[in-house]
Amino acid sequence: SVAPPATEVQRALAERDQREQRLQAAWAERHRPAVTRDGHAMEVFANIGESAGIDKVLEQGAEGIGLLRTELVFMGHAQAPDVATQEAEYRRVLDGLGGRPLVVRTLDVGGDKPLPYWPIEAEENPFLGVRGVRLTLQRPQIMEDQLRALLRAADNRPLRIMFPMVGQMHEWREAKAMVERLRVEIPVADLQVGIMVEVPSAALLAPQLAREVDFFSVGTNDLTQYALAIDRGHPSLSAQADGLHPAVLQLIDMTVRAAHAHGKWVGVCGELAADAQAVAILLGLEVDELSVAARSIAEVKALVRETDFQAARALAQAALQQDSAASVRALVERS
Ligand code: PEP
Ligand code: MG
Repeated sequence: SVAPPATEVQRALAERDQREQRLQAAWAERHRPAVTRDGHAMEVFANIGESAGIDKVLEQGAEGIGLLRTELVFMGHAQAPDVATQEAEYRRVLDGLGGRPLVVRTLDVGGDKPLPYWPIEAEENPFLGVRGVRLTLQRPQIMEDQLRALLRAADNRPLRIMFPMVGQMHEWREAKAMVERLRVEIPVADLQVGIMVEVPSAALLAPQLAREVDFFSVGTNDLTQYALAIDRGHPSLSAQADGLHPAVLQLIDMTVRAAHAHGKWVGVCGELAADAQAVAILLGLEVDELSVAARSIAEVKALVRETDFQAARALAQAALQQDSAASVRALVERS
């Protein structure tokens, strides 16, 4: 084999050292809030799938949970877990959080992710089929049990509930009505109810939805898949399913502007939120909260601190004018 020239080896080693030093510095500061150089704060939350490990997530600097994916709670059982079983699980998360906010997504399964006790008819296009809120609205008993467990677990702690895959106003209204009905029975002091923005129609309808929801959380994994019509797991195309595509950024921008016009907040909880090249752009689009895998929290906070909010706003506006994800990424590299 041909050995690389010594200078290249040295450069690679120096880069590795630099990166390690940056990560160490970020880790030392992980419990401090993420505030830009010019004083703009970004909340940095964690994505989790179960209560186990919640202490470790906080130890990694999480200011709250921005996405509790509840599928695991359902997958670990031979039948749908009853209200008490679910309540105990949600309570463990809230106990661990010690007063920090918890954003929970209601069960998000469907044709591609079936549950053994919940037979779903095979569909030719499961990603365009009965999944997410479409499915739970068809099985209101399962949804009701989950909502009841969540409300019971809340006590006075900050609980935010959101519905996945909302694409139509009536889906939001039906799901919200169920929460309102149960709330009469189980009062909760600090509750917000919102939707995930994963279907382009939800972003395009954000001005109307923003009047009614308490918040939006952008699921960029699905939003990108649906905006670009690329299966997120496609063997050869998924590399092109890049959330920094200006078409996706336009949808995020619309969502934020609609939300803020109504005094509502917006989080981003897809993979894009932890992408080092995306943080300044999401900041510049005025996203209020980023929710990422716990291992990324320290680094995302450090990236926010290196950024100037006014410069990020200009960068985001320039990104919206690009014609491809590649040109957005090139723009970020030059900035
Ligand atoms: C998303 O779609 O971006 C998201 C956060 O949800 P999931 O990845 O679980 O579909
Ligand atoms: Mg999703």
